[in-house]
Amino acid sequence: MMDRREALRRFGFGGMGAGLIAHRAVARKHQARRAATSSDDRVVDVVLEGASVFRSEADGQRIEHDVSVRIAGNRIVDVGPGRMAAGDRIDMTGHLLLPGLISGHTHVAAGSPTRGIIESGRSYARPLTLVEEELSNDDLDALTAYNLTELLLSGCTSQVEMSMSVRQAMSYARVARRLGARGWVGGMVPGIGRLFPIWFGSDEDLIGSESATLEEIEANLSVAESLSREGDGLLFGMMTPHAADTQTPATLEAFAQAAARLGTGIHTHLSQGQRETDTVRRRHGVTPTQWLADAGLMDGPFFGAHFTAPDWETDPDILIEQGGVYSTCPSAGGAGGGTQPYPEALAAGLAVNVGIDTHSNDMLENVKLAVLQGQARAALLQEVDPGRLVRAPTVEDAIQGCTEIPARALGHPDLGVIEPGALADLVAVHVSGPLSGSGAPAPEPLNNLLYTNGRFVSWVFVDGRPLVSDGQFAFDLGTIVSAGGRVAQRLWGLLDEEGWF
Ligand SMILES: [Zn+2]
Repeated sequence: MMDRREALRRFGFGGMGAGLIAHRAVARKHQARRAATSSDDRVVDVVLEGASVFRSEADGQRIEHDVSVRIAGNRIVDVGPGRMAAGDRIDMTGHLLLPGLISGHTHVAAGSPTRGIIESGRSYARPLTLVEEELSNDDLDALTAYNLTELLLSGCTSQVEMSMSVRQAMSYARVARRLGARGWVGGMVPGIGRLFPIWFGSDEDLIGSESATLEEIEANLSVAESLSREGDGLLFGMMTPHAADTQTPATLEAFAQAAARLGTGIHTHLSQGQRETDTVRRRHGVTPTQWLADAGLMDGPFFGAHFTAPDWETDPDILIEQGGVYSTCPSAGGAGGGTQPYPEALAAGLAVNVGIDTHSNDMLENVKLAVLQGQARAALLQEVDPGRLVRAPTVEDAIQGCTEIPARALGHPDLGVIEPGALADLVAVHVSGPLSGSGAPAPEPLNNLLYTNGRFVSWVFVDGRPLVSDGQFAFDLGTIVSAGGRVAQRLWGLLDEEGWF
């Protein structure tokens, strides 16, 4: 067989030093392949070999070693032990190959502008309001591209995306299409420009917001429908109400109708604080979970983030019955922003995803944080209340929660698994070298993930396209980073003028 360098060259990457130009050539080749539906000579055919592979349906045996995975076009066509005599080959010895990771809760453009300036206690509200109020579409796209690039580099191939407004959802769609990410996208309603006076206002403020909210729902629906019409199989529109305490019965009804029309379901913040749960109880006599379910918002796919203050007696059973997914987000609030009830949710039998939310876009880091914070939280809860139902999360829970669980909930059982016929969304993580492993192929590589972060991701495929190849991004990383950095500096400048620092 050829070594990795030779495989890279044959696969279209040139020598190891050929860098971005070769990568762009490959991206073009893949775009050409996608445009040509039946031209076999353009179909990529490559075997990834030597990796340990996470397989979810092998009788509880989650990891298989020294496996070959063959990709043709945008699908996995063969998975088997040892070597395969077909196609070009890439040596992935020392790597753990996972299905592409799915974040069930992101606000992509909102990641980098707050990072590093909120951790000592400031609110994210002002920086994120400025993103909406001050940035041109070009600046917004530069910010979105910086953040989406981070997500892809760290193995997050799919985003269930609640952009902060309709305009930001359109920016996400433009950039995701350019970079080749997979996403279910909607604009948060109310959008960030209207959110705070409604969220922290009186019942009268909420009632007064109703007609503008209905207009925003309409605008989101038309963006979502246009994404479906363009239908490249990678981007889907989705309805994304901010949370139960910023909606009225009429706006919930409008969301239910829009979601039924789209068929992609609902993505929202769910019981993200005691105040939300208390407010909805006072207004409607039930919990946010109950209220949304009664209004039909859980009739299709449903993703609810945070779940910090639900009614543990009633709410989990509703979510389970409706097939909803809870996205636990260890970086919500930024680094050190507190823990979320992952162990309680697992004990209650909920389907749990690990989501990004904002501030950190490192998917592997967030998987690790969810597991480690969850284990610490479980231990402390058992200490203070031995009768409390908790189950400490394992790394397997978290990986299952970022792959098969959200894929099935989204109605895409051909995502989130490494099986013949599945879509070729794949992530290879180096788990056997310095800092993550021991210098030899790891015998139990899932555990080694707990010593990694996004920097250990070597390969990322989305829909068969290599977006990260031997650590190199398929697009011009320097340009993306400097453009994103200029936008962040501009926002910090505006904050400085206001005396925000
Ligand atoms: Zn959020």
